[in-house]
Amino acid sequence: MLRLTDIKLPLDHDEVAIENAILHKLQITKSMLLETTVFKRGYDARNNRDIQLIYTLDVTLENEAALLEKFAKDTSVRVTPDMRYKFVATAPEEVTDRPVVVGLGPCGLFAALILAQMGFKPIVLERGKAVRERTKDTFGFWRKQPLNPESNVQFGEGGAGTFSDGKLYSQVKDRKHYGRKVLNEFVAAGAPEEIMYVSKPHIGTFKLVSMVEKMREQIISLGGEIRFSTRVESLDLDSANSKPADEASTDSKSHKIKGLFLSDGSYLPCTKVIMAIGHSARDTFQSLYDQGVYIEAKPFSIGFRIEHEQSMIDSCRFGENAGNPILGAADYKLVHHCRNGRTVYSFCMCPGGTVVAAASEPGRVVTNGMSQYSRHERNANSAIVVGITPEKDYPAHPLAGIDLQRKLEELAFKVGGENYHAPAQLIGDFLDGKPSKELGDVKPSYTPGITLTDLSKVVPDFVIESIREAIPAFNRQIKGFAKADGMLTGVETRTSSPVCIKRDKQYESVNIEGLYPAGEGAGYAGGIWSAGIDGIRVAEAVALALVPSDSNT
Ligand code: FAD
Repeated sequence: MLRLTDIKLPLDHDEVAIENAILHKLQITKSMLLETTVFKRGYDARNNRDIQLIYTLDVTLENEAALLEKFAKDTSVRVTPDMRYKFVATAPEEVTDRPVVVGLGPCGLFAALILAQMGFKPIVLERGKAVRERTKDTFGFWRKQPLNPESNVQFGEGGAGTFSDGKLYSQVKDRKHYGRKVLNEFVAAGAPEEIMYVSKPHIGTFKLVSMVEKMREQIISLGGEIRFSTRVESLDLDSANSKPADEASTDSKSHKIKGLFLSDGSYLPCTKVIMAIGHSARDTFQSLYDQGVYIEAKPFSIGFRIEHEQSMIDSCRFGENAGNPILGAADYKLVHHCRNGRTVYSFCMCPGGTVVAAASEPGRVVTNGMSQYSRHERNANSAIVVGITPEKDYPAHPLAGIDLQRKLEELAFKVGGENYHAPAQLIGDFLDGKPSKELGDVKPSYTPGITLTDLSKVVPDFVIESIREAIPAFNRQIKGFAKADGMLTGVETRTSSPVCIKRDKQYESVNIEGLYPAGEGAGYAGGIWSAGIDGIRVAEAVALALVPSDSNT
């Protein structure tokens, strides 16, 4: 099979256009083309009067070898790579040392699934509730019920991305095609088939809920075990080698896992633990750090959610083609390098979605975004954030980024009125430096509600200065982006993990034997898809550590 890339066709092309393009490109007759599959479909909307669809096609042909030779110098004609997933090991009949996965977000879910598929019967520990019960708690909080610190947008089955736009793309390098395995498993669990071929796939929140349940069923049917409402409190380490946290180093494996102490008071003996706890498990980061696990501070970003009417974004990006079902609701990706040396960028853009309350700790306000598969809500939202670094902004301590997040989230809670309303400001007022008093045409979607104010009370001055410079610059790319009645809501602090739990080439913690830090919380993923990919990688590492190499398949 050959793969043809960069086949461009007009947005409104007819059914035979793909076939004709292949025949034209390869200069062959119709009888030589045996089968065609669309591997990827993206679009180029830079000229919105002439939007082009861009295809990657897999074709089965007569005499492929001769064609390959003919097109040897053309990089858009290549052999289709084998992207099928192959298991690296098979568990022995009797699994005596069951691997443990902590956290059932996308990373833990894929780690557990792969281990289960290899026969390792993993034990999964998840501090939150099963996804249906968790949905009730999360939606309840958005309807003004109390925040449940163990069951919310961040914690519970499905992890942080369950109530999200379900975007499934990222810039990660994926030479082993694990991303394909992630997509295949999602489709098997009920995701729309199109996620296999559209260039920016998304699932939307409601579909994710039932998919997560199906994947859990598969893990259990393969002998895995899942314990909800079970938080890992601390590690039981080989005490002979324990060192205090400030002596934790990367030079050797000075500790070894013997077991885990759990929130229900029980103890779980184990030797291999995948720690996939996400970026919001602040108490667990602290506990790991206190026990000497090597952790470093890492860069992340802070800022606000911005909301505009989706119709404005659509018509700016797609012109007269706005509303075309192939294009769907328009997204955007914006970056601005400021005069003060900071970078402002859009992040986690949710077309046709809502801004959500994403707090996991009482007395703190955090924003994020989500949407349904249809992306039919009135507003577009995205995070507009400024990059910050430990060296410049929180140098004190490996966990100082968490302290900064907490401080900003507490300020947002206070300025919002101490009732989980988020502080908000109209874009026009924000640019003019005056507090907002009344709403314009853009109705903020954040629930439980917003408090109009001056957002400079919530974040450091450099954040305000940088975003004030960036919004007019973004307006040059998306006309209307700086429109006065657009909304800013804050505070956006959970853009990625503020820490990195360092691991070595075998995916094991640099100083704790048997501990496998994984996913976003450990600093090795930045989204659902990349967290799933990391889960697969780490599951393979654990499987290979459990099974002597000569008995591997
Ligand atoms: P998480 O998903 O955070 O999962 C960690 C799990 O560990 C949680 O379930 C938590 O309860 C559990 N846990 C934590 N501590 C413990 C403990 N001590 N013991 C037991 N369990 C524990 N990404 C995208 O790619 N596309 C999107 O559209 C998107 N939208 C988002 C919208 C929202 C509202 C949010 C909050 C995030 C969104 N993200 C999105 C980011 C994405 O959700 C994360 O990158 C991804 O979920 C990270 O996966 P993870 O498995 O590493 O961690």
